[in-house]
Amino acid sequence: MNAPVLDNFWMPFTPNKVFKAKPKLLTSAKGMFYTDVDGREILDGASALWCVNAGHGRDKITQAIQKQAAEMDFAPTFNMAHPLAFEFAHELSKMLPYDLKRVFYTNSGSESADTALKIALAYQRVRGQGARTRLIGRERGYHGVGFGGISVGGIVRNRMYFGSLLTGVDHLPHTHGVEGNLFAKGQPEHGADLADTLERIVTLHDASTIAAVIVEPVAGSTGVLVPPKGYLQRLRAICDKHDILLIFDEVITGFGRLGTAFGADYFGVRPDIMCLAKGITNATVPMGAVAVSTRIYDTFMQTADTPIEFFHGYTYSGHPLACAAGLATLEVYREEDLFARAASMAPYWEEAIHSLRDAKHVIDIRNLGLVGGVELASRPGAATARAFEAFDRCFDKGLMIRVTGDIIALSPPLILEKTHIDRIVETLRAALAEVA
Ligand code: PMP
Repeated sequence: MNAPVLDNFWMPFTPNKVFKAKPKLLTSAKGMFYTDVDGREILDGASALWCVNAGHGRDKITQAIQKQAAEMDFAPTFNMAHPLAFEFAHELSKMLPYDLKRVFYTNSGSESADTALKIALAYQRVRGQGARTRLIGRERGYHGVGFGGISVGGIVRNRMYFGSLLTGVDHLPHTHGVEGNLFAKGQPEHGADLADTLERIVTLHDASTIAAVIVEPVAGSTGVLVPPKGYLQRLRAICDKHDILLIFDEVITGFGRLGTAFGADYFGVRPDIMCLAKGITNATVPMGAVAVSTRIYDTFMQTADTPIEFFHGYTYSGHPLACAAGLATLEVYREEDLFARAASMAPYWEEAIHSLRDAKHVIDIRNLGLVGGVELASRPGAATARAFEAFDRCFDKGLMIRVTGDIIALSPPLILEKTHIDRIVETLRAALAEVA
């Protein structure tokens, strides 16, 4: 293969100059592995970007996309639609927990987050509570890169360059660094009381001004922050007490990552609105969705005072190729019982990840389901973060990981075998030993 010209593609969330000096180019993928441009096998320890939950190159999904592309390339979902859009929403509704049975389509996690916030604001207005305009996010939250998502999110570099963002936003404290939680296996013991900050925010502004709270059940992109035991239940109780909507951004935790269909199932906590993307099509065709409770949907249908009940949507909402891919993806998840498989692998995963406790530079390890976070001691002032160097070494050794700051995030496809887990851990250990 001819080497591509690297000048023109401005890469997202990437140090472009670093990449272009030493490109990492992937050319094919099957099962647990990528192949790079030099023909080397790369074990996928991250499901790419937490999204290829059923593993790569699934024939059933590929064929469904090919068939749909040949049959009908595109159809709008404004004022008309195609059967697959309804069929997929119905199949999704069977998998979704509680009364989250109505589905609004987007094309990405960022769009899902912004759509969820807009649904929350419009819902409050439609039900006659239009003064409820405040949105509550969380420090170290990640809800994509739209203006809504970065406003409620809590990553400084995603916010500081982009002006004043949405007004009327507050942030709960993140749950990381609570004393006694280092190297916790599964959910940490301490910190449920951090949810009580929501009461303080309510006291400050009055509940009648607050529309919704949005959190990731497990914060992924900011370094695998597992909620303390009881924390999400407490958030739910406070939201109930003050009639505030609770939004779970399950873009990462959805579709089996924790060993249940959704994080809401794992924690036994009911959100009013749920953001989805990534694993919804096994990442084959871009798609996202927002699931809302029947109560919210019915409120729009019964009380909106305009024929169009919700003024929002995307050209590609419910794209036929994405719906075809999504239907096939759900079949793969179900036929192979992949969520239960993730649950059955989780104990071995936990032990393996925590065996890195003695590896060089490691200062904390966190895990839940098939997610792992390995935090390294940082080097203040160094040009390159240790974790980025580990990422580079791992790639050289044939392992794909994700890094954020000095935290390594692992989230392998749910199809993995124990031998893959061993290989992930040993490769990472060897890579860390080489990092200065
Ligand atoms: N929300 C969460 C919780 C995410 O993890 C992500 C992506 N990692 C997003 C939203 C944004 O998704 P996308 O990149 O598809 O816009």
